[in-house]
Amino acid sequence: MKPAPFRYFAPRSLEEALHLLAEHGDEAKPLAGGQSLVPAMNFRLARPGVLVDLNRVAELAYVTADGGALRIGAMTRQRAAERHPLVLARAPLLAEALGHVAHPQIRNRGTVGGSLAHADPAAELPAVALALDATLTLRRAGGERRVRAAEFYVGLFATALVPGELVSEVSFPALAPGTGVAFEEISRRHGDYALVGAAAVVRLDESGRIAECSLCYLSVGETPLLATSATAELAGTTPSESGFERAAAAAAAAADPSSDIHASSDFRRHLMRVLGSRALARAARRAAPH
Ligand code: FAD
Repeated sequence: MKPAPFRYFAPRSLEEALHLLAEHGDEAKPLAGGQSLVPAMNFRLARPGVLVDLNRVAELAYVTADGGALRIGAMTRQRAAERHPLVLARAPLLAEALGHVAHPQIRNRGTVGGSLAHADPAAELPAVALALDATLTLRRAGGERRVRAAEFYVGLFATALVPGELVSEVSFPALAPGTGVAFEEISRRHGDYALVGAAAVVRLDESGRIAECSLCYLSVGETPLLATSATAELAGTTPSESGFERAAAAAAAAADPSSDIHASSDFRRHLMRVLGSRALARAARRAAPH
């Protein structure tokens, strides 16, 4: 199939891109790596009347550390982020998860901002953003706002973005000393979308007990699923396989993953238990007490 007709603009600055988005409102869509949008247009699942191509907006592609926080521009290619020394040092969970996103050829084009904005519930980056309590910067002509990942994902492929707005940056807070992270997923073949995935962050205190932890699943609902109440039980406890298994079992019991041609709901719940406890245990092992 070929896409429905559309008008195409290739701005060279963020300001120009924002004016084009403001001018064309909900008719317009930003084009980033095109790895999701172009197939959707070819299948006519998406029919934007106007494409605002961000690929020449160089000011949106950067990785930088600001104080403790790691800031990544929306047009940073996924492959560039995955290998960037600052990402490896400050957000190793993101680097680990990026290794599971499709294949290197796709990550060479696909962008960090595109994946976050696309809000596919089976995507790795939104789950990592929730697990790490990332903040997205949303820009529009004449303004900007910052939205925590937890408030950004509002439904199936739906975000807090409004017409005329784009994601310009994602910022990950510094990991506190004594923090370990781990990412686990199962897919039919390496590079396929995950049947289920789990991103875990565990911080241990001086005595080796769990000070705080987070566990976020992908591919188990309409949005990434942060298992807040299941992991709250772990605070103050000594890390143990049984504790992690209990937490992951509680998260699975509270979830309602759908069945599809790839996996049944029951199998997805089983994977939540296995991958959730595995991710928590591996994160705890990496969290050296300070
Ligand atoms: P685009 O396709 O250009 O855009 C996607 C959507 O986001 C569009 O609606 C667009 O308007 C919007 N958008 C883009 N940038 C912005 C912005 N800055 N602000 C606001 N809106 C914006 N992804 C995974 O996570 N895991 C996988 O396992 C995986 N497997 C894949 C396998 C294949 C074969 C393919 C083709 C893709 C796969 N993907 C996977 C998707 C890939 O990661 C895409 O790169 C990603 O989903 C979208 O990023 P993009 O830069 O290509 O965005």
